Amino acid sequence: MPSYKAPLDDIRFLLHDVHQVAQLTALSGFEEAAPEFIDEVLAAGATICEEVLFPINQSGDAEGVHLEDGEVRTPAGFKAAYKEYAEGGWTAVAADPAFGGQGLPETVRFVMEEMLCSANLSFSMYPGLSHGACSALISHGSDELKARFLPKLIDGTWGGTMCLTEAHAGTDLGMITTKAVPAADGTYALTGTKIFISAGDHDLTENIVHLVLAKLPDAPSGTKGISLFLVPKYRITDDGAPGARNGVTCGSVEHKMGIKASATCVLNFDSATGWMVGEPHKGMRAMFVMMNGARLAVGLQGLGLAEVAYQNALSYAKDRLQGRSLMGAKNSSGPADPIIVHPDVRKGLLRMKALNEGMRALAYWVGIRIDLEHRHPDPAVRQDCEDMVALMTPVIKAFLTDKAFDNTNIALQTLGGHGYIREYGVEQYVRDARIAQIYEGTNAIQALDLVGRKLPMEGGRLVRRFFELVKADVDAASGGDLEEFGKPLGTALHQLQKATMLLAERGFANPDEVGAAATEYLHLMGYVAVGWQWLRMATVATEQLAAGTGNARFLEAKRKTARFYFGRVLPEAATLLAAIQAGAAPIMAMGAEDF
Ligand SMILES: Cc1cc2nc3c(=O)[nH]c(=O)nc-3n(C[C@H](O)[C@H](O)[C@H](O)COP(=O)(O)OP(=O)(O)OC[C@H]3O[C@@H](n4cnc5c(N)ncnc54)[C@H](O)[C@@H]3O)c2cc1C
Repeated sequence: MPSYKAPLDDIRFLLHDVHQVAQLTALSGFEEAAPEFIDEVLAAGATICEEVLFPINQSGDAEGVHLEDGEVRTPAGFKAAYKEYAEGGWTAVAADPAFGGQGLPETVRFVMEEMLCSANLSFSMYPGLSHGACSALISHGSDELKARFLPKLIDGTWGGTMCLTEAHAGTDLGMITTKAVPAADGTYALTGTKIFISAGDHDLTENIVHLVLAKLPDAPSGTKGISLFLVPKYRITDDGAPGARNGVTCGSVEHKMGIKASATCVLNFDSATGWMVGEPHKGMRAMFVMMNGARLAVGLQGLGLAEVAYQNALSYAKDRLQGRSLMGAKNSSGPADPIIVHPDVRKGLLRMKALNEGMRALAYWVGIRIDLEHRHPDPAVRQDCEDMVALMTPVIKAFLTDKAFDNTNIALQTLGGHGYIREYGVEQYVRDARIAQIYEGTNAIQALDLVGRKLPMEGGRLVRRFFELVKADVDAASGGDLEEFGKPLGTALHQLQKATMLLAERGFANPDEVGAAATEYLHLMGYVAVGWQWLRMATVATEQLAAGTGNARFLEAKRKTARFYFGRVLPEAATLLAAIQAGAAPIMAMGAEDF
């Protein structure tokens, strides 16, 4: 049986010592969010994740969802767990108090999201989609829509979805054909079929609020002709309660590789009544609010799975007795040594640990930037944070989920054949992690967003600023105790800068150069960004050790893990640069018929 314990020590180290979460209490609206209070909230969050949601993860995977008489039934235990989760206020953690939210920092929700995804990724999809729907409504919905729908979405009484994909239109949403025809009363009648809709139907909430991309009859072609509509499963009566069924039904649920307890639905809209969110033909703008939040959330999904997979691989590696240490028996009274003595097993464990802790540090750094972006009194700070969040969003989505999938695989390998069978639970993490590389825009599309949109944005201001931040810490580390960490980071930063120049030079004349380099570039930036966070963590650990504060074993482990990251992981940046330098020609030279 797998197990999960929220990594609260690491979370506290990051929030308090590395990222100074206390700075948020100076922001208007966050006065109550003192570090001790945040710790209490997260400890309670850890308990519900460990004790309520984790125990129904494996059973939910085995049972999956069922479509019965046109309605989706979630696996045993999900309804009760959702009730407890919503009643505990967990759907409302960072939501606006004006609509019943608790108004805690987004950073706190990030941490909660990671723990939730470690505990039960399928379960997390239901409140996760509702949260996304709320963000789109808050920024683009009319006051009337907000008043009618937000409080119940926020308190978890109703659920939300995002309905973009159609059978012939996945990445290329400009091709969607779902139609929205205006009615005399100001509503719209939506007709069309959406596929792959997460939480599209289920029995956890009393209503489901779909946010649907569709085209008006006079819409221009392509993405410029897309509008966004809100379509509830049940129409809303005058007193705000769910009334008669609307014209939206679940045609089927997908049978899939992972997240089996998350309902992935075909939804048929048949003259369903909807309301427009935002302006005509500007639906992508409104939907992007939801999509950007969802991209960060998917990165956290990856992190959560990588963490729980690591924990289970680690405990197995300490228990499993096979072979003897190459240096002589370490467990001479036993029949063999625990496999953690073997360098190859350790390498896998350390790789998972180094990437997971570094990715966690990066994700929480972005979380803090979001809070500062929303509430800092200085517009220059707000702009700076907005820039960094925009730059890092594709990195968080794609780098974290690619590395998470690799890490779940390493975890499986650590268990040998026992990783491949169901009992130990690790094979589920591999299957569950795979989708995060695909939905919310495949990781290839994230890479194109990074190189095609984010790098040239504002004349390169975003990426220059990122380089400045990293370089300042590299320079500060030079010549002292921290040089062993700063120097390799400086080398990788230089490699990233070189790749950036190369893209700027070549991409202008030949856009295929950008497409050919995009994924390697995103990974190179991911390695540097995570390396930067490792330098910051190693700095704090070194300072605390020198001052004799903190837990020495934890802090020493940080320094050792940093050493592993800089020695055994970050050098991969050089290979990525070499691949980028090889350019598009080796990829594009072959005709499609020659493959
Ligand atoms: C379990 C699950 C849950 C989902 N949940 C939702 C949901 O809640 N709501 C929703 O609307 N959708 C959802 N989706 C859909 C998901 O977002 C899409 O599957 C995804 O965006 C990719 O679209 P596609 O499958 O049509 O692949 P395609 O767009 O056909 O892409 C196929 C391949 O081609 C590549 N490709 C395509 N275009 C380009 C390009 N321009 N440049 C480079 N490479 C390209 C892609 O990277 C990919 O590797 C879900 C899917 C699954 C499987």
